[in-house]
Amino acid sequence: MSQLTIALTKGRILEETLPLLAAAGIEPLEDIAKSRKLTFATSSPEVRLLILRGSDVPTYVEFGAADVGISGKDTLLEHGSTSFYELLDLKIARCNLMTAGLVGVPTKPGRIRVATKYVNIAKRYYASQGRQVDLIKLYGAMELAPVLHLADEIVDIVDTGNTLRANGLEPRETIASVSSRLIVNKASMKLKHHQIEALIDAVEAAVGELL
Ligand code: AMP
Repeated sequence: MSQLTIALTKGRILEETLPLLAAAGIEPLEDIAKSRKLTFATSSPEVRLLILRGSDVPTYVEFGAADVGISGKDTLLEHGSTSFYELLDLKIARCNLMTAGLVGVPTKPGRIRVATKYVNIAKRYYASQGRQVDLIKLYGAMELAPVLHLADEIVDIVDTGNTLRANGLEPRETIASVSSRLIVNKASMKLKHHQIEALIDAVEAAVGELL
């Protein structure tokens, strides 16, 4: 059998992915949380794991540096590529992509400033609503932007809404519901078809069991 490389998203998605992979018979041979390594051998000799920043997972899969990837739908929408297959909804790390603004401050008519790390998603969303926006790219702490009048609205991930509330913000519109997806490189799908089919079947069964 050939080597199968699976790119995982570190952080919250990783924590929820590992039990799924374990149920599918793939367990890292060392504790990922206690290591600074970026690649891990697994209990399945032909499978290795890469631990990546979320936004890099689609890139690794697109170019075939990884055969398979686990990525949030938010990241896939922002990446915007059709150059890999999205084959499975893992139903983990669920949340919503939303617009948000200051509590009690109505949405301003006319052109507004929107701060987000999801500039492509925001551009498409506001255009679909026929609204004019100036986008400001941020890499974190989006919630600060309306408070400090850097922006009128933000586009961000909302789970419980606690982060918004703690910063005097409220959710406005839902752009998309988000969960983690399994993506596959197109050439790998052809060349390693049986291995990838078997992986997908096992992970799909694990999703059903652990849900
Ligand atoms: P919450 O306070 O529960 O609404 O969570 C909001 C923050 O947690 C967001 O700003 C994100 O940074 C992070 N977060 C929540 N859910 C997810 C998820 N499924 N994937 C990645 N980040 C998340």
